[in-house]
Amino acid sequence: MSDDRYIYDLSEGDATMRHLLGGKGAGVAEMNRVGVPVPDAFTVTTTACVQTMKRRGEWPEGLADQVAEGLRRLEERTGRTLGGTEKPLLVSVRSGAVHSMPGMMDTILNLGISDESVEAVAAESGNERFAWDCYRRFIQMYGEVVEGVPQHLYEDALSELKHARGVAQDTDLSAEDLKQLVGTFKEISNEHLGGEWTSDPVEQLNRAIDAVFKSWLNPRAEVYRRANNIPADLGTAVNIMQMVFGNRGDTSATGVCFTRNPSTGEKALYGEFLVNAQGEDVVAGIRTPRPLEEMKEVLPEAYDELIATMHKMEQHYKDMQDMEFTVENGKLYLLQTRNGKRTAAAALKVASDLVDEGVISQEEALLRIEPGQLDQLLHPAIDPSHGKDAIAQGLPASPGAAVGEVVFDADTAAERGGRGEPVVLVRFETTPDDIHGVIVAQGILTAHGGMTSHAAVVARGMGKPCVAGAQGIRIDPVGKTLTIGDRVIREGDIITLDGTEGLVYGEALDLIPPQINEDFQRVVQWADEVRNLGVRANADNFEDASKARELGAEGIGLCRTEHMFMAQDRLPAVRKMILAETPEQRSAALAEILPMQQTDFESIFTAMKGLPVTVRLLDPPLHEFLPNLVEQSLLVQRLELQGGDEQELGEARATLAQVKRLHEQNPMLGTRGCRLAMLYPEIPDMQARAIVRAALAVLDREGETVGVEIMIPLVALTQELDAQRAVVVAAVEDELAKAGRTLEYTVGTMIELPRAALVADKIAEHADFFSFGTNDLTQTTIGISRDDAENGFLTQYVMDRVLERNPFESIDVEGVGQLVRMGVEKGRSVKPTLKTGVCGEHGGDPDSIEFFNSVGLNYVSCSPFRVPIARFAAAKAVL
Ligand code: ADP
Ligand code: MG
Ligand code: MG
Repeated sequence: MSDDRYIYDLSEGDATMRHLLGGKGAGVAEMNRVGVPVPDAFTVTTTACVQTMKRRGEWPEGLADQVAEGLRRLEERTGRTLGGTEKPLLVSVRSGAVHSMPGMMDTILNLGISDESVEAVAAESGNERFAWDCYRRFIQMYGEVVEGVPQHLYEDALSELKHARGVAQDTDLSAEDLKQLVGTFKEISNEHLGGEWTSDPVEQLNRAIDAVFKSWLNPRAEVYRRANNIPADLGTAVNIMQMVFGNRGDTSATGVCFTRNPSTGEKALYGEFLVNAQGEDVVAGIRTPRPLEEMKEVLPEAYDELIATMHKMEQHYKDMQDMEFTVENGKLYLLQTRNGKRTAAAALKVASDLVDEGVISQEEALLRIEPGQLDQLLHPAIDPSHGKDAIAQGLPASPGAAVGEVVFDADTAAERGGRGEPVVLVRFETTPDDIHGVIVAQGILTAHGGMTSHAAVVARGMGKPCVAGAQGIRIDPVGKTLTIGDRVIREGDIITLDGTEGLVYGEALDLIPPQINEDFQRVVQWADEVRNLGVRANADNFEDASKARELGAEGIGLCRTEHMFMAQDRLPAVRKMILAETPEQRSAALAEILPMQQTDFESIFTAMKGLPVTVRLLDPPLHEFLPNLVEQSLLVQRLELQGGDEQELGEARATLAQVKRLHEQNPMLGTRGCRLAMLYPEIPDMQARAIVRAALAVLDREGETVGVEIMIPLVALTQELDAQRAVVVAAVEDELAKAGRTLEYTVGTMIELPRAALVADKIAEHADFFSFGTNDLTQTTIGISRDDAENGFLTQYVMDRVLERNPFESIDVEGVGQLVRMGVEKGRSVKPTLKTGVCGEHGGDPDSIEFFNSVGLNYVSCSPFRVPIARFAAAKAVL
């Protein structure tokens, strides 16, 4: 016998055991512990699932025995027997991972019902219809989940029967009807399996547990994990729980509730329920449920107890809860509680309110906020002055505005949305299988399903606008039409969704820029008080710089100058500079560019109102400013053939010669950054002068200070920095002397090549600051071209989990991170106060920020829209 323990009874668990019991298992155990009524249960651990995966599907030694033991104890406690002919025990077999993945894995209800036990269930409940309803549900779920029978086979048989009986609702079918349906369902299963399906409940239980293990690996769960950065190797726990029945009649019900509104965060009742139904009917959106308030009339006692329990659990977990419940003959049971998925706006409001209510501290409030989610706040909203009439109304299931072309299936959405085309996914109802389409769509519209359906929960978690259960719309997924009244909308037509109001518009509406709300302003201040890392932005024009400052950037960490060379009206001068044959010619061309650069810097300094601005001198290889080799060759050929204008031909040939001369096989490893400046010192000279002139002009005009930091890119050798620093300082001093002025400025370098990190102590002697360029550093350390890799193997690596994350998105702590750490340590060993920052894409990634905080960088710099995220992430990194 192995000593490994794979089973815990309900009473043995608590909230701290979620890694072992999964969120669901730990949640019910905790509720049980604090006296909330939950059905009795035991849980198979995540370890059992992981072991099974490792053994390619074979259960670890001892698991089967332990399951049998767990079942025996459950039977003893409940005084019932699984599939017994007297007092039968029925159970659910529920998935439940450490991180909640709503609806992505499988659950089987009513296991234990069989030809032997169905009569006993009927007799005990005095309700034959109910017993047969449970049985047909079981065959359907078990067949689909465990045996892989296509769901629609059962659905079709059910529809057929309802049609034959002339009824609309499942609940209108009689006991006799359902009994007949059970016969049909069994035939369907047997036919599909090509034999008798197992009818032994104990064997069914084992097969069901196994199927739930496997559902960890199903494609939608995998897609969901990738979208949410959940590790692939955690596995799911399996909860075997005594059934309670919401489908026993009119004093039974099932439902879902949130302790606060997960769209807005308001403290208001939010939930839905269905009388005489089982849980899946609500969460899978099969029947459109009723608002929870109405339960007060229908089941007043259970309602009051539910409200009290909601409050109790929210106080207990100190966070908004998302709960599932069932009422059996008037008695309330809780089936699940978890911290509710919410929009970013709701997250901020809930956190801020909980602080006011004295439930949590400001620091705890910060921990409740997922920094990566905050970019939702920065999405545009519908311009309220549009004056258009909505063509349909549904439930405001997830707020925000979505404009896009209609598509009718998730695959098309995934394909087109994946190419960056804006699409709105329109479905009768969305199921967890649509997840890959939901992820890339701008918004979701459904004809069916409620506010608490899995689709709505997932959409809110991702900040996708969703209008659910829109009335009076007809969707034909085969003919690909959406009909509203006499208006027919086809695939490719544009619609706008207002997920905040639940409205649908038949055209593209104008959007207005996002507004950062009061809750954000309040909570982000708490973050600012806590964090050590500064947050700057990458910006190279007035608009971006202003936006960055508005969003709280404390400076510019990277002002690229190449865009200033690219502008159409400047290219002639830039080309003249490149084509120059002598330094004199080059200087003359640069003199033309200088005033343009100066204007650029002036507007950026003005926007930043005295905050520091790190200007990076010209980085890309010169050929980027010239036409492409192939195109230029073709142009020359064409002109030669036409035999036209001699001067034009001459110029084209000269350009071609220059393109050829500058052509490099590996431009990213070629003459760029300071290497270019070493060959053409006139370029950094001009740039330094433009910076000084701009700073002086702004000082004169605005009277504010200007924080000038000049940064030399792509340094590998101390000698490079030494030489470039000399060029820059000479130019700056010359300008200042001529103007008779003084100006504070610093000269630093990027650390973006492994060699620079390795000799950072030597480099630090010539640098006032370091800025880690983690894009290039990643590219050169791992040896993956950033521009090509994503089209090829890198994407595959991430899909196959050879790499957990794309290293250009989230820093490779183990490898590239080591160089960053070494760079900081070596640099500071020479200059203890050396200022260090990071300016790659990683500067806006919460996981990377946590790492940068741990190595003691002074600041991160990211794109303006990620500044709010970085402020929160930097605070969380400290807590
Ligand atoms: P998911 O993770 O997809 O929400 P669950 O395991 O929560 O799956 O099960 C789905 C639904 O089945 C639940 O919302 C609940 O209503 C119902 N259910 C699960 N277990 C039981 C049970 N023991 N008794 C009654 N209903 C149950
Ligand atoms: Mg659930
Ligand atoms: Mg670089």
